[in-house]
Amino acid sequence: MIQTYDYIIIGAGAAGLLLADAIGKDPFFKEKSILLLDKDAKQTNDRTWCFWEKDEGDFDDILFRTWHSIFFAGKKLRQEYSIAPYRYKMIKGEDFYASYLRKIAQHKNIAFVQDEVISIEKTTSHQLIKTQNTTYIAEKVFNSIYDYKEPLLQKKYPVLQQHFIGWFVKTDQAAFHEKTATFMDFSIAQKGNTRFMYILPFSETEALVEYTLFSEKLLEKSEYEEAIKKYLNDDLGIRNYEITETEKGSIPMTCFNFAQKNTETILYIGTAGGWTKASTGYTFMSTSKKVKKLVAHLKNEQPLNTFNKKDKFWFYDLLLLDVLFANNALGQSIFELLFKKRSPQLIFKFLDEETSFLEDFKFISSPPPWPFMKALLNRIKTGF
Ligand SMILES: Cc1cc2nc3c(=O)[nH]c(=O)nc-3n(C[C@H](O)[C@H](O)[C@H](O)COP(=O)(O)OP(=O)(O)OC[C@H]3O[C@@H](n4cnc5c(N)ncnc54)[C@H](O)[C@@H]3O)c2cc1C
Repeated sequence: MIQTYDYIIIGAGAAGLLLADAIGKDPFFKEKSILLLDKDAKQTNDRTWCFWEKDEGDFDDILFRTWHSIFFAGKKLRQEYSIAPYRYKMIKGEDFYASYLRKIAQHKNIAFVQDEVISIEKTTSHQLIKTQNTTYIAEKVFNSIYDYKEPLLQKKYPVLQQHFIGWFVKTDQAAFHEKTATFMDFSIAQKGNTRFMYILPFSETEALVEYTLFSEKLLEKSEYEEAIKKYLNDDLGIRNYEITETEKGSIPMTCFNFAQKNTETILYIGTAGGWTKASTGYTFMSTSKKVKKLVAHLKNEQPLNTFNKKDKFWFYDLLLLDVLFANNALGQSIFELLFKKRSPQLIFKFLDEETSFLEDFKFISSPPPWPFMKALLNRIKTGF
């Protein structure tokens, strides 16, 4: 038997859970029946999310850690920065899932079902969703299943990835500055790419240490691991440590138009919808902001395919990605000049897409201009 819902949200990850809760708690949607589907029970700690925001925020009750200062290192620059009024915040995946699944269980019009989606088809006016166990029909579908091959099928927009392996380490002696998160340490060998270390310290003896690249191709697992070992030994002088957990990820960095697949009745959300900030890979906070906009869009009864819009920040991201794709080794000097000349507050504001044209100019005028001019000329020739 086919089951019918007003809305079906596919995927109970960051985007699916945030959207389900936002709709569930808004009285406007109280007559809507909503189904949240995920193939997974969402009970493991499969990732950690970090983001910056000013002062208090919506996720403060589930934060694992907060830092008030960050450290940046380049070839020459090594500097700690106070980031007030911003804070750098971290949530453990398992805490987020538990908290949001609990909230969603309290919304009477939302059902969470663990089942794998096999196909999604459009009927004349609805979407038909087949799972392992059931067939559903819905007026509107929000889909967060990400097909990583899709942006690779085109050549117009380069596809880099923010890829990393991280080790949660415990040392036998004090080794970390507990109060300062290492945002980017570019002092390591670049090997023709944009490579940096990222450290989230939890105490003087515990931290997440991640070897991260912004580049086209993933590395062999052993290469990430060797780099972390070398960094712990040679750069941080840590001899004895235990690895208590690991994490890995690969987040798309591209200006590819994910929204082209949206129709009046299906909207791709989260990473699948292009909600990842293309120039950094940060997705969590941008998803939280998009969800608020999407709820307003739904309340205005607008078709789903009019939701996503390109703006000046899409264009800035495009130029940076074009530059890094053409010469991946430039990342170190671009980020070093940014942190040398501009405050982290301006950098965060720009990456949050909240800057004025004057502030954009201050930001954009920091890195060396020529690679960006060349990228711009190429785009004028080949199209945006
Ligand atoms: C290890 C890691 C660390 C990250 N750290 C950060 C960070 O610090 N800050 C930041 O901003 N971003 C970070 N990201 C990037 C981004 O925030 C996350 O990937 C985020 O989870 C994306 O949300 P999403 O809802 O789009 O996808 P997901 O959270 O991956 O959710 C998609 C859901 O769809 C489900 N699904 C997939 N296929 C099917 C199917 N066929 N049927 C049913 N369900 C299905 C999956 O089980 C999953 O639950 C990180 C990513 C990773 C992998």
